Amino acid sequence: MRCPYCGGLDTQVKDSRPTDDSSSIRRRRICPDCGGRFTTFERVQLRELMVVKKNGRRAPFDRDKLVRSVQVALRKRSVEPERIERMINGVVRQLESQSDGDIPTERIGELVMEGLKALDDVAYVRFASVYRNFREARDFNAIVGELEAEPDPQPARETRRQRRDAPA
Ligand SMILES: [Zn+2]
Repeated sequence: MRCPYCGGLDTQVKDSRPTDDSSSIRRRRICPDCGGRFTTFERVQLRELMVVKKNGRRAPFDRDKLVRSVQVALRKRSVEPERIERMINGVVRQLESQSDGDIPTERIGELVMEGLKALDDVAYVRFASVYRNFREARDFNAIVGELEAEPDPQPARETRRQRRDAPA
């Protein structure tokens, strides 16, 4: 496994154990070249999934790409990596069980939004704003409208709302 910091190929596994739900193996790795530490997950892949884009083009489902977009939404939010991993696993499992192998991109977006909603509502709004902007700009405006319409003048809620509205 290549080191994400220096690109070295000689990284070593320091610790290996199943995640809480036993759906993955979590490995702590260390790079002898730069001392960098990182975590990898080993998991089951039941079948090859294909994503069907809006223009009809098909591409192999890319789990890492999905993880990256989720991480962008969760940037600077304190959510346990294992909870994120579990959410992604859940999304992929649903994709594997519900489809005949071909998944419309919208389906992925909907499942991720559902998952993020349970993890962190700031990340949910961030993701929804990006994802829904691709479809219809007014969906995003509707979400913002909902938040602004929250009938609660208490200072605590005020702060929370401002944070939600902060640019991603
Ligand atoms: Zn390294």
